[in-house]
Amino acid sequence: MRIDRITLTHVCMPLVEPFKISNGEVSEKDGILVEIASDGLTACGEASPMAGGFYSADTPESVWDDLVHVIIPALLQKKPGSLGELNAFLESTKTSPFARAGIETAFWDLEAQRKQKPLWELLGGQRNVVESGLAVGIYPTLSKLLAAIERYLRDGYKRVKIKIQPGWDVEPLLAVRGEFGRVPLMVDANCAYTRNDIEHLRALDDFELMMIEQPLPQDDLEGHAMLQATMETPICLDESAKDQKTVERAIELKSCRIVNIKIQRVGGLYNGRAIHDLCREAGIPVWGGTMPELGIGGAQTLHLATLPNFIYPTDVEASRRWFQDDIIDPLIEVKDGTIEIPNGSGNCYRLNRKNIGTYRRREEVFR
Ligand SMILES: [Mg+2]
Repeated sequence: MRIDRITLTHVCMPLVEPFKISNGEVSEKDGILVEIASDGLTACGEASPMAGGFYSADTPESVWDDLVHVIIPALLQKKPGSLGELNAFLESTKTSPFARAGIETAFWDLEAQRKQKPLWELLGGQRNVVESGLAVGIYPTLSKLLAAIERYLRDGYKRVKIKIQPGWDVEPLLAVRGEFGRVPLMVDANCAYTRNDIEHLRALDDFELMMIEQPLPQDDLEGHAMLQATMETPICLDESAKDQKTVERAIELKSCRIVNIKIQRVGGLYNGRAIHDLCREAGIPVWGGTMPELGIGGAQTLHLATLPNFIYPTDVEASRRWFQDDIIDPLIEVKDGTIEIPNGSGNCYRLNRKNIGTYRRREEVFR
């Protein structure tokens, strides 16, 4: 894998509305684009941490530092020969999975372009259309929550996901069920509850949810197993599902019945596909989650979500649902609740250079 040049660009895109979950709020989205030039081709990956440790301890600054000071200097020396070697190298750097995903996904794009195939085909997917679900954050009032869901549901999203936290769970669910009837519905707690809340969480069974995502802390697989044993509603792991070993353990313990696969959280497509494969073998369906990423990262999740065990709608939504603009062309669009990946090779979405210039914070080139 010859590398002629690596360009890192940190972009910051304003959101259309602030996004609040159980552990924080953001109004801008940071992304670090990783462009690799090789033999006349240019491929792109995205490292997509949330500002201020919003989802994990990784921040745009810490991920930038991992890339600039650890991964890229070693990568330019090492020159891995295959995606497998690249992954073994990245694993050995002990860096943030977001930073590793930025580099790793760029190499997948490059490999797909070399083979003149769309990325989804290189990954082993069988279709170029993916069902999309609407995800909304925590709002200051129930009426604002309902208005947001109504506004976005016009695009035909296949399900609704609301964020919950202690004090904001039963009431919003009653309101959403009251307003939208039997719409496919799920909740995401982003680790906001503890084992002391098991009795309370059991009450959520009444809402016939598709799943409850990550109710308990990241490291509490046993607690999730205790909760799952007492609940009808499937538990889906997100934050806990950080690597293959942990997912294997979660399956063994019966901590969940569904797994959310995030390319950023697991350090790239290779690991994401491996988790898909092991869940498939265990009869555990998966779906593709997001940070949300900007367009390059979002598109990568779409490609991965064409694999056969991605059963539930992805969290990847229309570019305009989250961002005032995006760094790809065409934008990701949802029609009748589905996203069609355009024809092409590699990522299939091109970079919008003008917008990258507008939203750029900093850039650095390595040879
Ligand atoms: Mg989640």
